[in-house]
Amino acid sequence: MSVSLKAICSDITTLTVDAIVNAANESLLPGGGVCGAIHRAAGPELARECRLLGGCQTGDAKLTKGYRLPARYVIHAVGPVWKGGNDRESVQLASCYRRCLEVAAANGIETIAFPSISTGIYGYPIDFAAKAAIDSVRAALKKLPSIREVTLCCFSPSDFAVYQQLLAEVR
Ligand code: ADP
Repeated sequence: MSVSLKAICSDITTLTVDAIVNAANESLLPGGGVCGAIHRAAGPELARECRLLGGCQTGDAKLTKGYRLPARYVIHAVGPVWKGGNDRESVQLASCYRRCLEVAAANGIETIAFPSISTGIYGYPIDFAAKAAIDSVRAALKKLPSIREVTLCCFSPSDFAVYQQLLAEVR
């Protein structure tokens, strides 16, 4: 059976999937953007568990429970801050998506939703970020057959349009 990879336009905190991904910062403490929304929806237990993890490096990902979210788990990924594109940002962003899927597979997670990591406060241009995200997910899925469904969850209709366009292109 082939894996489902699709984009949607939604609030990621409402999704009923095994895991949602948080666009976190290296401290893994609650911040703004999607991170703030996830912490608000999950409740204070999420920040308590995050504090025990000792932070996370850019390009890496760590798992917690989902607490009051419909999703059972949260995978906290730290994307790069955009610095113009010559500072390994694309490698680090691709690494985020790959590490999330590896952590997911290692924990029996079969359905997962990603926000558009780094494209808010961290300033990564949406077209470049969406391309890196889709390429990285497709490459990782080839090695992780237990993952059944990957949802790329956009917050704005214009971001959604970018993802839709890229997903429709021939691979
Ligand atoms: P970063 O610091 O990695 O840039 P942000 O949270 O600022 O993280 O933004 C990442 C993406 O998440 C942006 O595209 C933003 O529009 C989007 N976003 C913000 N809130 C939500 C939400 N509730 N659900 C899904 N995506 C969201």
